[in-house]
Amino acid sequence: MRSRPDPDCVVVGAGPAGALVAHGLALKGLWVVLVDREVHPRWKVCGCCLGARGASVLRDRGLAAVVDSLDGRRPSRLDLRVDAQRVTLPLSGTLVVSRTALDAALLDAARDAGVTVLEGWSATLGSTATGHPAPILHLRRGDEAQQLDARVVVAATGLTPLPARAGASTPQIRVGHQSRIGLGAVYDAHTAGSLRPDPDRVVMLAGPAGYLGLSVLEDGAVNLAGALDPDAVRAAGGMEATVARLLTRAGLALPDAPPRHGWKGTPALTRSATRPGAPGLFLVGDAAGYLEPFTGEGMSWALESAAALTPLAAEVVERGWCPADLGRWEALRRRTVGSRTLIRTVSWLTRSPRRMHAALKLLAWTPGLSRSLIRRATGPTPLPPPRLLQDDSA
Ligand SMILES: Cc1cc2nc3c(=O)[nH]c(=O)nc-3n(C[C@H](O)[C@H](O)[C@H](O)COP(=O)(O)OP(=O)(O)OC[C@H]3O[C@@H](n4cnc5c(N)ncnc54)[C@H](O)[C@@H]3O)c2cc1C
Repeated sequence: MRSRPDPDCVVVGAGPAGALVAHGLALKGLWVVLVDREVHPRWKVCGCCLGARGASVLRDRGLAAVVDSLDGRRPSRLDLRVDAQRVTLPLSGTLVVSRTALDAALLDAARDAGVTVLEGWSATLGSTATGHPAPILHLRRGDEAQQLDARVVVAATGLTPLPARAGASTPQIRVGHQSRIGLGAVYDAHTAGSLRPDPDRVVMLAGPAGYLGLSVLEDGAVNLAGALDPDAVRAAGGMEATVARLLTRAGLALPDAPPRHGWKGTPALTRSATRPGAPGLFLVGDAAGYLEPFTGEGMSWALESAAALTPLAAEVVERGWCPADLGRWEALRRRTVGSRTLIRTVSWLTRSPRRMHAALKLLAWTPGLSRSLIRRATGPTPLPPPRLLQDDSA
């Protein structure tokens, strides 16, 4: 079945990047279809720490009400632990909120802006239609199928590359040598046992197999998310066994009760696209490239790059694709996400417990350095204090 008339833009993937691009284009008066293979609200592997940089992108795009409506926590401490050694750093401006709540709120905002949302549909890139260079999208939901032929396609599919049919023009994804895999789970508050950290803290444990972050979500559940070396996972006999070893080294234990969500793994984390798109197609967010989650910057990168892409995608819808657009997007994206030196350095440090021990000592001795690193990772703008709901002083 071919749906007519055709939208101006189809965005595939309703994570933070896709929802924000779709929202921005709809506000410009374009007809946008946002497709996701899942149905929100949905759980997703993530450390759930939204940095101040990401939150301020949302505020700048008129979504302050969304940020304020999220019932997240604002921890003031980050505990870094390598085995028995630990250092506590001040944390400001980070909002801990479940991806179930955040992504659903962003999707609602996109819908309110006029975006047509198709949930439960998996998209595949087809070849180019006649008339304009954007690829046709083939959507499938169970036995149902439809095609969308838009002027611009935005792929915001996270770590899963948008599948392509034979003949479709799509960039290659290069997976980094020795890339770690991500993993995550959520335990209910009453089953988390020794894993439940002080809600005012985010805890990061690092060991020879990788690292794991623990935080408390808005309903008191404990969120765990981390990155592990696949060889260590194989040697330990699986993800849970590897996590159990990491926890034991820090004096913690996996709960006996099963998690509410997970344990679930992700594809290899460190990746980049050979080009950030193809004629009529832009890649944004993790789909264009990702490194590792230790510094909790992924959502900020996704939101910043989505905000940068929106005016360019709108321009291409209006005047049609020209070959220079890919170069312009490449330059814009590089300027937005930068060279990500902090996470590259942290990734290198976490590959050696000896280096990690030395880094912890350095951070403990130089509070100025730790403050500036945290500011660099999360962003300089602290979130405003929680709103005063009732003024008792009157
Ligand atoms: C273990 C771990 C911990 C992390 N911790 C943090 C953290 O604390 N803070 C932080 O800022 N970032 C963190 N990140 C990174 C963050 O999760 C990502 O950077 C962010 O989700 C990227 O957003 P996105 O919109 O690009 O993609 P995603 O959020 O991954 O969204 C992609 C969407 O595309 C949909 N999709 C995929 N393929 C198709 C298809 N073919 N058809 C239709 N729909 C499709 C998916 O269902 C999904 O909804 C972490 C990542 C990992 C792996």
